[in-house]
Amino acid sequence: MTSDALLNITKEYGSPVYVYDAHKIEAQYNRLTTAFNSVKKLKINYAAKALSNISILKFVNSLGAGLDTVSIQEVKLGLHAGFKAKDIIYTPNGVSLEEIENVTKLGTQINIDNLSILEQFGNKHPNIPVCIRINPHVMAGGNTNISVGHIDSKFGISIHQIPHILRIVENTGMHINGIHMHTGSDILDIDVFLYASEILFETAKNFKDLEFIDFGSGFKVPYKEGDIETNIEEFGEKLTARFKTFCKNYGRDLTLAFEPGKFLVSEAGNFLTKVNVVKQTTSTVFAQIDSGFNHLIRPMLYGSQHEIENISNPKGRERFYSVVGYICETDTFANNRRISEINEGDILAFKNAGAYCYSMSSNYNSRYRPAEVLWYNNKAHLIRKRECFDDLLTNQIDVSLEQKKAIANT
Ligand SMILES: *Cc1c(COP(=O)(O)O)cnc(C)c1O
Repeated sequence: MTSDALLNITKEYGSPVYVYDAHKIEAQYNRLTTAFNSVKKLKINYAAKALSNISILKFVNSLGAGLDTVSIQEVKLGLHAGFKAKDIIYTPNGVSLEEIENVTKLGTQINIDNLSILEQFGNKHPNIPVCIRINPHVMAGGNTNISVGHIDSKFGISIHQIPHILRIVENTGMHINGIHMHTGSDILDIDVFLYASEILFETAKNFKDLEFIDFGSGFKVPYKEGDIETNIEEFGEKLTARFKTFCKNYGRDLTLAFEPGKFLVSEAGNFLTKVNVVKQTTSTVFAQIDSGFNHLIRPMLYGSQHEIENISNPKGRERFYSVVGYICETDTFANNRRISEINEGDILAFKNAGAYCYSMSSNYNSRYRPAEVLWYNNKAHLIRKRECFDDLLTNQIDVSLEQKKAIANT
């Protein structure tokens, strides 16, 4: 998308506003399917939690993707957006047996990630097929916030507990149709991922009626200059070869599934904000924007670096700025970053704002959540209105205690 198109969107819809480029989502989807095009049965399930606007879900559905969900509400959003129940997989963590049962009533594939629920579910519903989430204990990436495969992670059933799983399956007579892992958010090193895959293949051999193996996600996209990006093409080639060997030994062609979130939507997103104040202190120049971690929490939560471009003055002389927000809390987006000269009223574009940005936003400081716009065929489509004052009051029950007291006293 051009800067002019982005600037026009802020003129039409105001700021702050999230903008998603549908063509970029499509290009990423095609890149992934191309990298695995020699796999007979491939299933790409988009991880809804990355960006769950129903227009995005519909668009991703139109590309041929399925949906990866982590809550019954996401399952319902997926169904609402037109996904077939059988094209949705539900991979929760730490939810109640009741929620899992309710999801199976919707016809969706479930994925269980602990022994306790596996046993209870197997006893009650031995005929409903279940996928099992395995924890191969492989570290992907270095940040413990996003590496969920290591030894003390809360996700998945440890590979050291396979004998226990097998005992439950045998005792309950339940039907395991899939094996799953999701090791974390960064496949920095393809070999580490392939190593984890070998563990998954080994595990899969224990189950005779599998229909699919789900490798989760972890595809890395570059956030800042010099960032490593997963080499999808090389990864596709190497994993495909191993998968084919596995299927040959297994005696059947299984479906190879992935659940990318960030890979599909991160780079498609721009978050556009306006500079309210340029504040020079004795040591720093702050650019204070009309947003905060209530709208984009990743920098404060994960230390993520989103590239920031001054699209109002792209050719200006570069200077150092700390970009901060307007909420009453430390909400730093960037520390002493080189950005072309900023004037009050300029529009700053945050890159990589598609994944885990809007979906993690809140009303903190009683601010409205931003509008969302989808860019498609050179046109902007509003896909979510900016919130308004009434939205802040929705669900609140106005209990006027003084009045109650007065009534009680009469
Ligand atoms: C969040 C999540 C994903 C998506 O991860 P990305 O890093 O955004 O690709 C996939 N699978 C599961 C089970 C998840 O919880």
